[in-house]
Amino acid sequence: MKAAAPKNIVVIGGGIQGTSVAYQLSKKIDPSKTTIRILEAKAPASAASGKGGGFMAASWGDGGPTESLHRLSFDMFEDLAKELGCKSYRKLPVLSVSPGSNNKMVKVARDQLGKTMPSWLDGNMGRISVMGEGDDTAQITPKEFVDKMIEKADLEVVLGKCIGVETEDIDGEEKAITGVKYIDRETKKECLLEADVCIVSAGPWTCQAEDWFDNVIELPMEGIKSTSIVWKQQDDDETDATALFCGEDPRFNTHLEVYPRPDNTIYICGIGGSDYISKEELKNGAFLEECNAKETRVEAASNAFKEMSSTYRENGQLDRVQACMRPCAVDALPYMGKVPGFRGAYINGAHNCWGICWSQATGLAISELVLEGESKSIDLTPFDPCRFTATVKGRGRKKRGQNVGEQW
Ligand SMILES: Cc1cc2nc3c(=O)[nH]c(=O)nc-3n(C[C@H](O)[C@H](O)[C@H](O)COP(=O)(O)OP(=O)(O)OC[C@H]3O[C@@H](n4cnc5c(N)ncnc54)[C@H](O)[C@@H]3O)c2cc1C
Repeated sequence: MKAAAPKNIVVIGGGIQGTSVAYQLSKKIDPSKTTIRILEAKAPASAASGKGGGFMAASWGDGGPTESLHRLSFDMFEDLAKELGCKSYRKLPVLSVSPGSNNKMVKVARDQLGKTMPSWLDGNMGRISVMGEGDDTAQITPKEFVDKMIEKADLEVVLGKCIGVETEDIDGEEKAITGVKYIDRETKKECLLEADVCIVSAGPWTCQAEDWFDNVIELPMEGIKSTSIVWKQQDDDETDATALFCGEDPRFNTHLEVYPRPDNTIYICGIGGSDYISKEELKNGAFLEECNAKETRVEAASNAFKEMSSTYRENGQLDRVQACMRPCAVDALPYMGKVPGFRGAYINGAHNCWGICWSQATGLAISELVLEGESKSIDLTPFDPCRFTATVKGRGRKKRGQNVGEQW
């Protein structure tokens, strides 16, 4: 059923997921009838959407439930990068590199692979093989993409931390969203945004919404907190664009993912030693304000990288050190859909290690769900946010619109 046009939409969370939802909504609404606001606790793209790698791959979800997210998003990114004038988007080839202790493979690989073998990959390593030719793998720098979406659609960003929703009873069984409560970042005062639609898209902190919606929905979540580093060459030389996925290196306990960026820096994650942050900690706002990097892992990853690249060993410098969390549900799949019993409430979270790559497809799907009553572009069934909520089968009463049986 086609939903009536909402008046005030609030997207909670200004990462790439929330911003993509807002951007896709902005393309479909009549701005004289509907407002869209992003409510962001710190700053847009201040968490994983500013500090993640930005790598994407069209076919790496093939055969699984996320295939359509990978494929649709990959195509959308190519068009949107042009639409937004995003300089950091490009397709690039990918190599698989196993660790090793001599540089014999460099010449062999250069002869075999030609330009796909980047000039800076000139140190010690083992086997090298091609994972992607550069047709179905690409990258963006996610912060640039988020900023461009906000700028292009002139999206209003309210800085404050959501603490709950206001509702009105409709018929004793269902409630309707009437507002979103938040603590204003500057004044520290409690404020209210009028809203008949709210979409919770707050990365690992999406699980906070359990409390906002009277615990009618369970949102399991683990935040996987990882350090990442950025290297650059001292003389700012042009950096050949080939990404690397490296095997586990027991000398450094790393499994590096190496992404050279168009600004000639090299982003590196997969540096090991991640911390696992529980749902309860996330609900209490763990690492929302500050997310500290692990110095021991910075050193290990830098050494692992310099082992593979004598160019960077001799002429490189560590440019940035940072940490962020990827949001992971127990089945590692995202949750996207309606909150049962709360008219106008939606969840879009747990996008795990592909939250940047999938963001355009998820943004489109959620915008369709909100404005048209169903997602036409993506089948959201495998991602039903109610799949973790315990329900008792059989006849009986309803818990906020869901059958929960006699016993409840
Ligand atoms: C090291 C690392 C590398 C990665 N590399 C890649 C990659 O190469 N490709 C890829 O596709 N994915 C990658 N990912 C995963 C990707 O970064 C995430 O899946 C994605 O950024 C999640 O986006 P998000 O918008 O859901 O969450 P986030 O980016 O975490 O944004 C959530 C936002 O919500 C805000 N917020 C939280 N609580 C509230 C509240 N109560 N009120 C208001 N605002 C709130 C936060 O301040 C934050 O800005 C990587 C992740 C990590 C950790």
